[in-house]
Order: sequence, then C-alpha cells, then structure tokens
Amino acid sequence: MGLKVTLTSGKVLSVVPVSGQAPEEALEQTLKRQGFPPRGKGGGAILRPHPQGAVLLPALGGHPPRAPPPGGDPTVSESPIEWLYDFQQQRSGVSWNPIQGCTRVHEGCRHCYAWELHTRRHQAYQNGARLPEQYRLPFHAVRPLPERLHQPRTWRAPRRVFVNSMSDLFHEQVEAGYIRQVFRAMAEAPQHTFLVLTKRYARMLEVIAPLAPLPHVWLGVSVVNQPTADQALPPVREARRRGWHTWVSYEPALGPVDWQPWLPHIEWLVAGGESGPQARPMHPAWALAARDACQQAGLPFFFKQWGEWLPAAELKPSEKLGKPTLYLSLEGARSDTRHDPAVPMVRVGRKRAGRALEGRLHQAYPITQGGSHGY
Ligand code: SF4
Repeated sequence: MGLKVTLTSGKVLSVVPVSGQAPEEALEQTLKRQGFPPRGKGGGAILRPHPQGAVLLPALGGHPPRAPPPGGDPTVSESPIEWLYDFQQQRSGVSWNPIQGCTRVHEGCRHCYAWELHTRRHQAYQNGARLPEQYRLPFHAVRPLPERLHQPRTWRAPRRVFVNSMSDLFHEQVEAGYIRQVFRAMAEAPQHTFLVLTKRYARMLEVIAPLAPLPHVWLGVSVVNQPTADQALPPVREARRRGWHTWVSYEPALGPVDWQPWLPHIEWLVAGGESGPQARPMHPAWALAARDACQQAGLPFFFKQWGEWLPAAELKPSEKLGKPTLYLSLEGARSDTRHDPAVPMVRVGRKRAGRALEGRLHQAYPITQGGSHGY
C-alpha cells in the first residue's frame, strides 16, 4: 500500500513501497529521486527546502518539527507528541501544566515518563543543580500552580493544548474548586482546542457535574486493556451524554479491548505502543482491532507509534529476526520461547518501529471548533 506526501506547493508525491520495503525507506528513495537533500539526524517530520516547495515528512519514526514556545514562556513547552501536531497549520501543540505531580493509578503508569523525568530533576535539584523551583518537591507532592492559569489566554495563535502532560487534572489531591478554575481558564481561551487526558475516570465525572460543556475542550480517558476500559466507559458515556466532546487514548496498549460498546460515546481514538527502556510490546491484533472498529463506525483513528517493539512480520526480508525477540499472546502474555499462536515481536527501537500500520499512516483528527482537522 502506498503513501501520499503533500508538498507545501500543493504537489502530491506518491510513494509505493516495493515488496517487503518499509514505508520510510520508500519515502527516502522517492525524495532522493526528486532531488531532495538527505535527511539529517533526528528523523521524523522535517521541512526540506526544494524548488517545488518544502515537504513536510510524516513522522514515520520520529517527532514532528518543533517551534519556539508560545510567548517565550519557559514554563510552557512545545510538545513533540504526534497527535498534538496540527498538520494543516504545520504547528506543534503545547503542553500546559497548571498542576504539578501525580501518583500511579494502574498498569499504564508503570513506566510513567513524567515520574521518571521529574524524579531525575528532583534528585539533581537536591544535589545542588540550578533547576526551576518546581523540582524542589518530589513527584508525589501534588500541588496546584495557579500562577499558570492565565497562560492560554495570552497565546493568540490557536493551538492544540495538552492539559497536564505531567500530571492528572482530576487527581484526588487537587481540590474540585481548583479544577473548576482550570476549566474557567480554558473557557477564557476559546481560540485553542484543549485535550484533557485522565486515568481518574470517576472523579472526572464528579468534578464536571456542575459545569456546562465547553465546545473546545475534549475530555479524554487513558486506558490500556479491557479492565481499565471497563472502568472508563461509564463516565465517558455519561460525559458524552451531557454534551462534552470525548476521546480515548489506548496507550500504552497492553491488552486487547472490545471497542464496540465505546463507539457511540467517543469521537476520536488514539492508539500506540510503549516506548522507553522498559517498554512492553503491543500485539498487532490490538492495534488493528482499534483501527477497524473506528473505520466501521466512521470515527477518526490516530496510530501514534508501535513503540520499541515491532511485529517480526513487519521486518524487511533483509532484516534478521535477531534479539531481543519475544513471543506475545493475544491476551498479552509474554514469553521467551516460541509457541503458537503467539506472535514474535522484535525490539528495534521507537524510530525504526515507526508508526505505519499495514504500510499506512493513520493520523485522523476530529474536526475542531476552528475547523482544523488532521488526516
Ligand atoms: S496518571 Fe499519568 S502522570 Fe500520573 S502517574 Fe499515571 S501516567 Fe504518570
């Protein structure tokens, strides 16, 4: 199956991998034939100058390009997260953290990136490193940061804003009154699309109960397997019934999920495998089931990444099965020894694993208030 890459001039390049060829390699060869300069270090989406117009590479294995933080504010960061990137405006999303710290909830938190990053910096702070005051306290010390509530109002250009990328808005230690102040801050910045993501499903519903839905705020739940999906569905169903936009992040996918009961109650599904040194593999059947359910229901589906592990069936013929390899059952059991019907998974690294599913990028984004959508 081929890929289509649109140049900023409007010209469309068709990329058709030959048998067994990875989409990224086919794309590289097509660009080379067209006279584009070779890709530099860093991978991912890169704007390459060319007489016909620049090409924005889909981030097959790396991150979309990053722009300077809005207003030069050091407490706000441009986010490399693929599902925050606006491919139409060619603009990165932003992480906005009006709360600091968190504690673990379920299996999806086991290798929490925010915990690892904050803990490293907290230790460095204690050892005398010159770091911002926010690292004085350990990650589990959850506290509101009201001095950041005004920030989204000050960014004029519309952004996709990830609310609390380093915490959980509905953490039980955050007072409901403060969480509602966060909603007021979002209400005062309708130029943006706010993407909230929580693992505290029931508390989300409790806190939003007195609030009127905001058309530019999307309430998302993070689930990783069937038990977490079963917990999340009733609050999501109720939030949708009350008129909120709803979405689900199935990342890191750690087990199968039956998506059929979800489809009438969500407007977007993002799926992805785990990355990082301790990453666990994602069975290809889980990703395909999520994609197929969305296709049948006409829902936008975004496949973020395979993570560190790639199904051996996706390797090129020239690539050896090699090590480390493990065998993953449909239920999520991992084993070092080959057995049917477990699929072999190979640790190739996040960049090589990329984010093509059956040779295609899936980066659909729901239409937002500003009319912008991804594809
Ligand atoms: S809820 Fe999110 S931020 Fe909090 S510990 Fe879990 S993964 Fe980390």
